[in-house]
Amino acid sequence: MTMATTKCRIVVDMTKCSGLGLCEAVSPDVFEIGDDGNLVVHTHEVDAERTAELREAAASCPTQAITVEVDAQP
Ligand code: SF4
Repeated sequence: MTMATTKCRIVVDMTKCSGLGLCEAVSPDVFEIGDDGNLVVHTHEVDAERTAELREAAASCPTQAITVEVDAQP
């Protein structure tokens, strides 16, 4: 049996990401610009409680590379 926890999924279109790091400023534990200047996404799933924060990170992205999806589970 699995627990029904609601998760927020983070999808980054790396073809759109230009490594500006604005997402990192909002959610540094999720997004990090590596030494090579490329974005590293540390996790693709966080608790849904953080949806607003992740949506803010997505909104801060100038190239709209970030999509935030919420799994609505019964
Ligand atoms: S804000 Fe957008 S373009 Fe900048 S690093 Fe994050 S995903 Fe990439």
